[in-house]
Amino acid sequence: MQIQDIRQRLRALAARPVHEDRILRAWLQARPLDQGRRQAEHFFPLPLREGLPALSADLDGLARVNSVHPGSDGSARLLVELSDGQTVESVLLPRGGVCVSTQVGCAVGCQFCMTGQSGLLRQISSAEIVAQVVLARRLRPVKKVVFMGMGEPSHNLDNVLEAIELLASHGAIGHKSLVFSTVGDPRAFERLPQGRVKPALAVSLHTTDAALRARLLPRAHRISPVELVERAEAYARATGYPIQYQWTLLEGINDSDEELERLVPLLKGKLAMMNFIPFNSVEGSGFNRPSEQRAWEMTQHLRRHGIIACLRDSAGQDVDGGCGQLRARALGQQPD
Ligand code: SF4
Repeated sequence: MQIQDIRQRLRALAARPVHEDRILRAWLQARPLDQGRRQAEHFFPLPLREGLPALSADLDGLARVNSVHPGSDGSARLLVELSDGQTVESVLLPRGGVCVSTQVGCAVGCQFCMTGQSGLLRQISSAEIVAQVVLARRLRPVKKVVFMGMGEPSHNLDNVLEAIELLASHGAIGHKSLVFSTVGDPRAFERLPQGRVKPALAVSLHTTDAALRARLLPRAHRISPVELVERAEAYARATGYPIQYQWTLLEGINDSDEELERLVPLLKGKLAMMNFIPFNSVEGSGFNRPSEQRAWEMTQHLRRHGIIACLRDSAGQDVDGGCGQLRARALGQQPD
């Protein structure tokens, strides 16, 4: 079910635009669609009143919480079951954020990511993306949505942009608090500036070495790190929002002094911030997490050169690590 399907169904039940808006707002705020029967009796036409319980059940069936895994940092990983039984992960982030998935599996195949190992299984519909936010709101207030869960959002662009539009218009999420993430697909750079809602942008950079990037992200669009930063910078200047660069730190792979030497001129003077995220070690992955000291040195090096840099852990990593590991465990693809 897409958001357009929900709108058409409401119209078929004789909903006028004002009813449609009220019902979509109620859904996105995780309130009952009829907003209290008494109000509905006065406000909604009869076919709509009669049709709302079935619509409500269908919306509830879009995404259900299969299991909740709280982390010690205030986050919680949710294993979410979609209507066809496929599962994806959402993460409740500290300070009112939620990270949602945009695809079941992912075609990019990043070497250090469990989700990438399965390939793409299917797209997630626009309504299923929004339903993950609604689920999160049933558990805690949400004022920020990041599209950094399973999947590459620009490979499901129409659905992600439709969800972004609705979250901004009916979900009380500010444009700047919607964070679109990409490995650098040109379609994202073409479409995002054209939208009415312009989300903030996170770019998975991971290295300044084009050949290494092609090995680590084997099916990402081939764009050099220099061109990637140029295109992202143009979006940052157009919106005024800094680009959030993501860099998964892999010991002996992309934590060298040479990387830092190339990174400083690449980001200096840009509207940008760097998030270093030490790899969460997974048995058999072939990658290791660098020492805390090395990760901290890299962060400080950028700061000394006037670049905003943060050292982060992927949220809830003490429960089930990075993206895709919870799902893999539930499917028996990873040992407990
Ligand atoms: Fe896909 Fe993101 Fe995993 Fe890469 S890190 S395979 S883009 S989900």
